[in-house]
Amino acid sequence: MIDAVRQLQAALGPESGLVLVGGAVRDRLLARGGGDWDLASALLPEVVTTRAQEAGLKVFPTGIQHGTVTVLAGGHPFEITTFRGDGDYLDGRHPVSVRLGVALEEDLARRDFTINAMALPVEALETSDWRDHILDPFGGRRDLEARCVRAVGDPLKRFAEDGLRPLRACRFAAQLDFTVEAATLAAIPERLEVARKVAVERVFVELTKLLTGPAADRGLELLERSGLLGLWLPELLPMVGLGQGMHHRLDAWGHTRATVMAVPPGAPFRWAALLHDTGKPGTRSEDEAGNLHFYGHEADSLLIAQALLQRLRASRALMGEVAAFIRHHGIHPSPDWSDGACRRLLRRLEEDRLPLEHWGAFRLGDQRAKGWGDDACLPQHQALMERLHCLAEAVPPLNAKALALDGRALMKLLGRPGGPWLGELQAHLLERLLEEPERNTPEGLEAWVRAWSAKP
Ligand code: ATP
Ligand code: MG
Repeated sequence: MIDAVRQLQAALGPESGLVLVGGAVRDRLLARGGGDWDLASALLPEVVTTRAQEAGLKVFPTGIQHGTVTVLAGGHPFEITTFRGDGDYLDGRHPVSVRLGVALEEDLARRDFTINAMALPVEALETSDWRDHILDPFGGRRDLEARCVRAVGDPLKRFAEDGLRPLRACRFAAQLDFTVEAATLAAIPERLEVARKVAVERVFVELTKLLTGPAADRGLELLERSGLLGLWLPELLPMVGLGQGMHHRLDAWGHTRATVMAVPPGAPFRWAALLHDTGKPGTRSEDEAGNLHFYGHEADSLLIAQALLQRLRASRALMGEVAAFIRHHGIHPSPDWSDGACRRLLRRLEEDRLPLEHWGAFRLGDQRAKGWGDDACLPQHQALMERLHCLAEAVPPLNAKALALDGRALMKLLGRPGGPWLGELQAHLLERLLEEPERNTPEGLEAWVRAWSAKP
């Protein structure tokens, strides 16, 4: 990365004022890798383009109207944005104009949070005292040390300009395990009307980053307390304070947040954890003994999750994975289940393309999040997974393709042309094979085929 930045600097010349800016400086101070490196320069985008091209680098005009071009150096794409000031924001989403060629301080002043409003001249990148070269007009380093997200300037004004910023505040708190500074947090409920106008695609990106962060539970709590949850995820509100009876120590919302934290950090896991019990408020019932039940809540959760993810324009792939987790989260095989019943579960997971490993990890997270001390459920869960793995390793026939007699062989055996009967027969054979998978040989199946066709 550093070599590529050197190459860029050589191409743009010493007066380019090239700096590393925003999240990249923040992450460098936190010794946190991974993110992209955004650069800023005093040069106008046309000049950046010409000089980079003259040095033989590929340039893409990815955001010319905001002063951004992307330059490929050392195999990495670098966004280089001209120092810019934002004009007025009239729609709560975008500035009506941008002014290019302003001083770096003004560029930093338009950025959202102090921890994101620092710049590091690229010539200082490799010095031992690079920290001392950071331009930090708003106290970003102080706030990084205090682990706090604070708006640059007046949060009420900054949240009126761009309604995504309140959500970004919660997202950074979740991603970095930070708190949100009091005035910044207090400004969020005052600006919900602006937040409402933000494009759902931007919201979805930030929500996903929040959910996959190491302190996602804090991010979710901030969303709830600040009113943002009701704005974008109103389906979750009825879970707040919803008691769940004696098997749970937490209310449904507390359990949801705990589940998000207890499942692996990938987006499908986290979205599924967030939504897996949304059907509970609508299915809650109490029996005569005073026990609470949520019969069929999985199906309701599924419907709610699908509508919600569709509204947020989530990808089909993500929706499919989330649906599979939710659909199968209420299955709790006990030791007295037959092998056949366990294989039936394997078949359901396979039909939904949910790897057994993922199902198990989600189930464990859900169990742990009931609030009874972390590991009470662990031995039972491990025994169950071992059993399911053993059964899966023997590769039982779970779909028609795995039958020892294919469609053609079955037609030949019964001397009948194809038709709906074939699918029925295959389903019948697969069902019987759940109990006796070792009978999946041509001879083993033949007796069953004949018995089936002899039935009136
Ligand atoms: P990540 O590690 O998730 O990429 P980031 O801080 O780099 O975090 P980006 O969305 O890539 O976030 O934005 C890059 C920089 O642009 C931010 O650090 C911030 O300085 C500025 N920025 C981004 N979005 C906004 C916004 N809505 N309002 C003001 N400044 C913003
Ligand atoms: Mg970034």
